Amino acid sequence: MSIPKFPRKAEGLGAPLPGDTTFVRKPKLGTGKGRKREIPEGLWTKCPGCSTMLYDKELDEQLKVCRHCGHHFPITARERINALVETCSFEEMDAGMTSVDALQFTGVSPYPEKLAAYQKSTGLKDAVVTGIGRLGPVRVALGVMDFGFLGGSMGAVVGEKLTRLIEAATERGLLLVIISTSGGHACTRGCSASCRWRRLPPRSLTTPGNGCLTSAC
Ligand SMILES: [Zn+2]
Repeated sequence: MSIPKFPRKAEGLGAPLPGDTTFVRKPKLGTGKGRKREIPEGLWTKCPGCSTMLYDKELDEQLKVCRHCGHHFPITARERINALVETCSFEEMDAGMTSVDALQFTGVSPYPEKLAAYQKSTGLKDAVVTGIGRLGPVRVALGVMDFGFLGGSMGAVVGEKLTRLIEAATERGLLLVIISTSGGHACTRGCSASCRWRRLPPRSLTTPGNGCLTSAC
């Protein structure tokens, strides 16, 4: 009776002979279940352009632009003001001005509820921050809109604050700069903004939106 021959490895005989087949499991690098890296929330942001994890402090220093691919992150009104004016030179105007529910319009949710939610999430009273500050040696009247507040839509407060800013710039002989975002009115916010907003200022457009209302009225 013939005895079948098995490879030496199958018999547990040490190193395989030439011609034996060897299977080697590829080691997993850094993917073990117990080795998952803990990334503290709020310290790192993943770039949607190149998927690089960016250190938030460095991203702020780069003015919210990815240094790897040039992707521009959304920037709030406060961040833009801090990036533009000299430190501690900004005096905000009409900081406490808020909208009233004149139309009592109810869409997906009542307007006052929506307003309160955006005030809480942005820390702003409405979609624009206005004031006087210094750009280098030059004092300017500066208005910066925030897309994070109801898409930067123009309501009565935005119209009133921008009009007051323009009037202040005219009275004091200051250069006027308005950084606008959004595309227009929200139906819940009425047309009262346009009644006050009728002068054409110098303007700078941001993304998203092109500020067509604020630049055209
Ligand atoms: Zn990137």
